[in-house]
Amino acid sequence: MTSKENRKIAYFSMEIALESGFPIYSGGLGILAGDTLRSAADLQIPIVGVTLTYNAGYFYQIIAPNGNQVERDVEWDFETNFIKLKEKVVLELQDKSITVEAWKYNILGRTGHLVPVILLDTDIPENEPWQRNLTHVLYDANRFQRVVQEMILGVCGYKMLEKLGYSQIEIYHLNEGHAAFLIFELLEKYKTLEEARKHCVFTTHTPVKAGLEEFDYTLVSDVFRNRLPENIREFAGKNNLNMTVLALNGSRYVNAVSKKHSEVSQQMFPNFKIDSITNGVHVGYWLSNYMRSFLNNELGRNWHYNIRTLDRALELDSYELWRVHLKAKRDLLNYERSHSWVLFDKRLLTIGFARRMAEYKRPLLIFKDLERLAKIAKNNIQFIFAGKAHPADVQSKSYIKSISDYSDYLWNSYKIGLVFLENYELELAKSLLSGVDVWLNTPRRYMEASGTSGMKAAINGVLNFSVLDGWWIEGYELSKKMAGWAIGPSPTDPSLKMSNDQSDADAFYEILENEILHTYKNNPNEWQERMKYSIQLGAYFNTNRMIEEYADKAYLIERQDLWKLKE
Ligand SMILES: *Cc1c(COP(=O)(O)O)cnc(C)c1O
Repeated sequence: MTSKENRKIAYFSMEIALESGFPIYSGGLGILAGDTLRSAADLQIPIVGVTLTYNAGYFYQIIAPNGNQVERDVEWDFETNFIKLKEKVVLELQDKSITVEAWKYNILGRTGHLVPVILLDTDIPENEPWQRNLTHVLYDANRFQRVVQEMILGVCGYKMLEKLGYSQIEIYHLNEGHAAFLIFELLEKYKTLEEARKHCVFTTHTPVKAGLEEFDYTLVSDVFRNRLPENIREFAGKNNLNMTVLALNGSRYVNAVSKKHSEVSQQMFPNFKIDSITNGVHVGYWLSNYMRSFLNNELGRNWHYNIRTLDRALELDSYELWRVHLKAKRDLLNYERSHSWVLFDKRLLTIGFARRMAEYKRPLLIFKDLERLAKIAKNNIQFIFAGKAHPADVQSKSYIKSISDYSDYLWNSYKIGLVFLENYELELAKSLLSGVDVWLNTPRRYMEASGTSGMKAAINGVLNFSVLDGWWIEGYELSKKMAGWAIGPSPTDPSLKMSNDQSDADAFYEILENEILHTYKNNPNEWQERMKYSIQLGAYFNTNRMIEEYADKAYLIERQDLWKLKE
């Protein structure tokens, strides 16, 4: 099952979070890609992943005493983690030929099945210095650099798979539009777009128009020269080359990543059919060690082979479950104490908010009425924030600075603990997502395509407190409103029309004080019941279920023939 000849699916992603310490992802997209391939390995799906190496990585984040984000290059030694391949391909760029090499990383599944990930690299001696820099950093802000990175991913990724002997690939899966240039290669092979698109499927991840990647045709013509398809404007956008439009036209199946997101995407692109496959997380990866052994004891070790077993979470022992949570909380607070002057207290309700800093996620919403927040939180609640801002995103950097300022104010005036922890990444995420009591999310409505951190919190028995958007619309209902609380009205509520930042902030304070804090202090039994409903959500919001849906609806492969689980 591990030989390359029988790989049927190639999964292309600009970022893939493989292991902690590999700084080759920036946020949810990369984590999802990593979880997807981990589940594919567990379920023995014949898939191969493709991405870039990024030898300078996505930066290491430091917060200066004045609250400013400082970015450091990451020294990381991928040569000890990746296997160097000897095959080379050529990138035709402008009138130059650049050599592209590759590394391989194997993801090992539960039954021993391997999923290879191919990482492309231009940092080799025979290239000129500027060419060696092309695969240096993730999401380079320079447009030329960016378009070339996407050519490397799509075009060279395709060529590299051919060169490596992956001759049985039937489906190319574009995880977001970054790799859509590979459609040019399919066009060359199959001659017509109609034939080419039979081999391509596309997952869109953003409902925000501004989030859709576009390139000026002048730039695209300059880099591709005469290698650009003649009628390109017919299927990649009239005025600019839009990677989403290219991917939509070049794929036979398209999906969004939650039910709501597919509605929103469908409205943006009424001429295409956009299905929905709700995201998940790799449960085995995201459970704290304490929770994993607890579940193994309670459900039997085999539950990992059938994640649906988590349906039985309501039977879990409440007393033990609470003890498991307190251990994770203790670990997190120990980490906090060693990284901040503010001393946290394990008895207080602890709320976490951590994600890529972005305007639509409204990281400052809870500070709208600072005195009201202080009044509720004093002697009751402490907060942990974390998250990186893209180095070129001045506005998002200002949010980090503001949170640090609020943190000083709340501590100095009220002795309320609110800290911003540096360098949010996989290990810190694991600790936060199991160690806080409540996980907060405040996106502007219908801009959170799915959100996956809330799912990671849920499987660890952490209750969600979130605007009803993305996955939480589904998770909140599926748990019969037990797995946490909603901020503001639901999508079908007529009062939603009046909703804005102010009313969402009001709803936040109101529910925090009267429901969440009240339950935490006075009703431990209800809290523990809610924790079980949260864990139960893992039966559905996992990448095993998700990739089976991809197999059935997108890849159209006969699952039972392709993998048989060892008992
Ligand atoms: C899960 C995760 C994300 C994505 O979180 P969202 O809920 O989609 O905002 C980002 N970064 C890290 C490190 C994560 O673990």
